[in-house]
Amino acid sequence: MCEKVIIIGSGPAAWTAAIYCARASLNPLVFEGAVTEENRLAGTLPLGQLSLTTEVENFPGFPVGDLTAYLDHAISADRRAMMAPHGKQGASGPELVELMRQQAVNFGARIVTDDIVDVDFSAPPFQLTALEGGIHQSHAVIVATGARANYLGLPSEEAFKNRGVSACAVCDGALPRFRNKPLVVVGGGDSAVEEADYLTKFASTVFLVHRRAELRASRIMAQRAQNHPKIKILWNRTLAEVLGNDKDGVTGARLASTVGDPDLHVDATGVFVAIGHTPNTAFLKGRLALTDKQYIRWTTPARTYTSVEGVFAAGDVADDYYRQAITAAGSGCMAALDAERWLAAKGF
Ligand code: NAP
Repeated sequence: MCEKVIIIGSGPAAWTAAIYCARASLNPLVFEGAVTEENRLAGTLPLGQLSLTTEVENFPGFPVGDLTAYLDHAISADRRAMMAPHGKQGASGPELVELMRQQAVNFGARIVTDDIVDVDFSAPPFQLTALEGGIHQSHAVIVATGARANYLGLPSEEAFKNRGVSACAVCDGALPRFRNKPLVVVGGGDSAVEEADYLTKFASTVFLVHRRAELRASRIMAQRAQNHPKIKILWNRTLAEVLGNDKDGVTGARLASTVGDPDLHVDATGVFVAIGHTPNTAFLKGRLALTDKQYIRWTTPARTYTSVEGVFAAGDVADDYYRQAITAAGSGCMAALDAERWLAAKGF
């Protein structure tokens, strides 16, 4: 059997594409990813980056309010039972993406909890191989596999994720634990500087920890960081250990020197890692045109077209610039409309 459209991914881009495709009677099949230890360690479990964040305060339509009754009503009982209670007001990332998934299910999207590990886009219909071994055919494909934040890989970093360690200042920076407290940002590129700048709205001081004596960030961004009264750049330093305890989460950081100085300890209630992202495109290598940074290349301005006709890309897998849930959702909608029109033109 050949599907009309297969969607690969399970973040805001994928679910929005699924909602639009389902409502357009395309009967989409969604590969939401596999639940494996390898994916857990890589940060690529189903439901993506949004499921790794805490409160989401900037997704339109979810102002502060008690969502408990609504979640009980909107989400299927079996999925609701698996959701961790968080006991606070407003939507969390996991709740928001679960609501998106449910909305896609409500319109008839079919979901397979598995990874696509290989694709053959050489000739239509396209062939997709799942981790479990099944081969699936489809006339159109929407790739929305997202990206994952790079972490340093320290055990202490892993231990305090969501308790002070984050890779997204825009997602987490406004949380109470970061207010009027010193924070650490690791990295020296535009992202790190941007994160540090953003966090100055909340923090008492932001320590920008960079492994060299010169920032990689663009000159204007670097100057902004260097001139900011709340940003203190700690040159030639790397994060050796996140310090903390079970009760308080992160309490500080131990910073090693890259030029032979003694370790430095700083107090901080948060550590933000901003050393780049990796798009989830390994399974596409050689099958689809990628950018130098391995993101999918959108080939036409303001469209979600890729180098292969009939294959569309949405969300962070093709966007290394905006990287927001709402922009991913928007491009998921675009990809669904692009796929629908392409399928209609081909007579499918
Ligand atoms: P990036 O430019 O690749 O910078 C990554 C930074 O992390 C570098 O400073 C690098 O150090 C550091 N780093 C990498 N691995 C590390 C490790 N293991 N330990 C310690 N430090 C490590 O990534 P990005 O900042 O995410 O930016 C990605 C792209 O998006 C860039 O093209 C950037 O210009 C763009 N962007 C633009 C804006 C904007 O214009 N507003 C905002 C954000 C991002 P080294 O410098 O020593 O390699």
